[in-house]
Amino acid sequence: MKDSWYDVAQICLNGHVINDCVKRFPNHNKKFCDKCGALTITNCPNCDTEIQGQYHIEGVMDFTGYTAPAFCPNCGKPYPWTEAKIQAAHNLVQELENISDDEKKILTQSIDEIIKDTPETTLAVTRFKKILLKTKKPIVDAFRNILVDIVSETAKKLLWP
Ligand SMILES: [Zn+2]
Ligand SMILES: [Zn+2]
Repeated sequence: MKDSWYDVAQICLNGHVINDCVKRFPNHNKKFCDKCGALTITNCPNCDTEIQGQYHIEGVMDFTGYTAPAFCPNCGKPYPWTEAKIQAAHNLVQELENISDDEKKILTQSIDEIIKDTPETTLAVTRFKKILLKTKKPIVDAFRNILVDIVSETAKKLLWP
């Protein structure tokens, strides 16, 4: 018997966690999300690897919170909910006023970088912040709401310390 193991998670296409213990509590599974009606998945749509769920240690109750992972650790592709948020952020960029087309392009590229932890992340955050300074607070808040769950840890510390 294994002492500790990862369960499988069932998550809707919009990122709502339906069941983080698919193996232990299969009766909690749902075919569609009860929050938004989207289809639920337990495997990466790109490579079919199971989505890592709650970590079980035998004899210990699980109290740690579970959050949907942003990227598949097996193939590196963003999960559908990450993709949807990136798209939403890109769409928001296009709606901005008083921002030039060049700046919109930079902002869009910065968003792609700040969700990953790469050597470019710090630079991307700096550019992102600089352009957002020209917008109003509700816009800044809107970006935060969309991106807070998917930006890299490095970017999160720099953006919202
Ligand atoms: Zn949902
Ligand atoms: Zn994958």
